[in-house]
Amino acid sequence: MTQTNLAQLPSVDRLLALPSIADAIVRHGRQPLTDCARAELAAARELVRAGHLAPDVEALAAAAVARAERLAQPNLRPVFNLTGTVLHTNLGRALLAPEAIAAMAVAAAAPCALEYDLADGGRGDRDALVEPLLAEILAAAMGERANDFAATVVNNNAAAVLLALDTLAKGKEAVVSRGELVEIGGAFRVPDIMRRAGAKLVEIGTTNRTHAKDYADAITAKTALLMKVHASNYAVVGFTKTVDEAEVAAIAHAHGLPFMVDLGSGTLTDFARWRLPQEPTPQDSLAAGADLVTFSGDKLLGGPQAGILVGRRELIAKIKKNPLKRALRVGKVTLAALEATLRLYRDPDRLAQRLPTLRLLTRGEHDIAAQAERLCPALADFAGADAEVSIEPAMSQIGSGALPVERLASAALVVRYPGKRPGKRLAALEARLRGLPQPVVGRIAEDALRLDLRCLDPADEARFVAQLRAEEES
Ligand SMILES: *Cc1c(COP(=O)(O)O)cnc(C)c1O
Repeated sequence: MTQTNLAQLPSVDRLLALPSIADAIVRHGRQPLTDCARAELAAARELVRAGHLAPDVEALAAAAVARAERLAQPNLRPVFNLTGTVLHTNLGRALLAPEAIAAMAVAAAAPCALEYDLADGGRGDRDALVEPLLAEILAAAMGERANDFAATVVNNNAAAVLLALDTLAKGKEAVVSRGELVEIGGAFRVPDIMRRAGAKLVEIGTTNRTHAKDYADAITAKTALLMKVHASNYAVVGFTKTVDEAEVAAIAHAHGLPFMVDLGSGTLTDFARWRLPQEPTPQDSLAAGADLVTFSGDKLLGGPQAGILVGRRELIAKIKKNPLKRALRVGKVTLAALEATLRLYRDPDRLAQRLPTLRLLTRGEHDIAAQAERLCPALADFAGADAEVSIEPAMSQIGSGALPVERLASAALVVRYPGKRPGKRLAALEARLRGLPQPVVGRIAEDALRLDLRCLDPADEARFVAQLRAEEES
């Protein structure tokens, strides 16, 4: 039956009384369904006024339920990251370990001793929740300075750098090599952060070469610190010269200045253990004589978004007294996740199984290629009869600035549409993949859609196939 005039459209109450809508009212509530029924009736009225046939009562009810389901979907939705970039900033970087997720849930649900000293009942310090764990991990590298160690945590590494410079170099000069004045994705630029912190940037050397003498010559009465920034998303190759951390530390210390390192990613373990490319660690920087090191919590560390500052107690104490620290501090849920993540580092043997990000980074290419074989038929059916789907070697990136040049051998499902103008077909396929209940994010390059399977956890494989099959049938 179809409605043809306005009087024949049902009332909101009649729609809400239909048995076919009852279930949705229980799930979403009466008010949301009322709003959705109103919206669908308004749309039907427009149709009728424009001379079209309006949907029947059951169709209106189904549309109201569908609208309610759409509105109930979270805005922050999980996706399949098949971009080939493991630590993808736009897709949320590190995946947390189950231990960290459980700790977050506990901290969120109950009052917790966030800034409360359970030993004496007095006021505590939230940094004390993670400081001993960081000290334990970093102590060996600090040598005799281990007793002089402290740490603090802020919202992210950009905040850590801002806070450090604002505390130590405001109104003074910070010396950085021109080759390290980097821009990280998302508009983090070292010179901009310096300006915001009120520090005067003193650029030394040239883009490709900086010498020890450049650092020494730049030091004046106004110098607050020497700084090195890990050139995290690019590499300068060819005729290059950088000054290593130990040398810069020696120059800084000879002038009574602190030496700060913005490490960016900074894994806490030796990647050689998993035959991954070597990435600098805060341990390396501290051992080389750095007085202050900053790094992210959600890059190679594999924890929550956070910026971690470690180093000499007296510098950290100053930083913690800065009122900006209060504005940049992290909450209990973040600290719970960070603490639980750091605890996993006590047992390095199981780290690559327990830290999801490390697990993905250490997947072998044969394992990934075998997975591609299993998934190929479902994707081929999804992509349509005229698609050519193949399995090809791929090179994953670590992402988020870590190890910019190194790639990890992987395997990808590659879709091509033979013919003159495949661009449109590829864009349509990409859009369909993005429209799935758990959107699939791949990459179009060289007239092909590439799905690098490194980050498709084998445990999620069945779900991945099921939603491809379901869309095909609908
Ligand atoms: C990633 C990065 C930052 C910014 O860290 P966030 O945690 O994203 O704020 C700063 N410096 C370097 C060298 C980086 O690699």
